[in-house]
Amino acid sequence: MVGKRWVDGELVESASSDWRIDEATRGMLRTEVTQAIDEGWSAQQLATAIQESSAFSQERALMIARTETAMADVQGNVALYQAANQNGVEFYKRWMTANDDRVSEDCQRNGESPPLPMDEEFPCGVLFPPEHPNCRCDIAPVLFTDLVDESAAGL
Ligand SMILES: [Zn+2]
Repeated sequence: MVGKRWVDGELVESASSDWRIDEATRGMLRTEVTQAIDEGWSAQQLATAIQESSAFSQERALMIARTETAMADVQGNVALYQAANQNGVEFYKRWMTANDDRVSEDCQRNGESPPLPMDEEFPCGVLFPPEHPNCRCDIAPVLFTDLVDESAAGL
């Protein structure tokens, strides 16, 4: 998924050059990333593998590894929430930032949004993290019934 991002529920080529990568590189990376996820590597292990098998700088390799594992992680969770939703348990999503001074402005705005239905975009126009390379955000599921309770209690 390197060089792509989620827009309107679809993976599209990113306009930002930070995300862009050529097809050959993407094919090589896909192999590494698939193996990493299958075998439960850490982002650091994946970064090392990417770096050893390519010309990436250490910084770039780590950025790609973090972004890819974050994306796979979030998508795995989202699939679970969506399956639950189809079974009548309604989950909304809350944007969780790392909550420190390195959180980007966009992620901060997404983090300030109230919980949203799974198919609604956060304020910065993405459905799920990562918002940008090296994004450390995640989403947390919120039961719709809990949201109703919160507003009824005036919270
Ligand atoms: Zn973020």
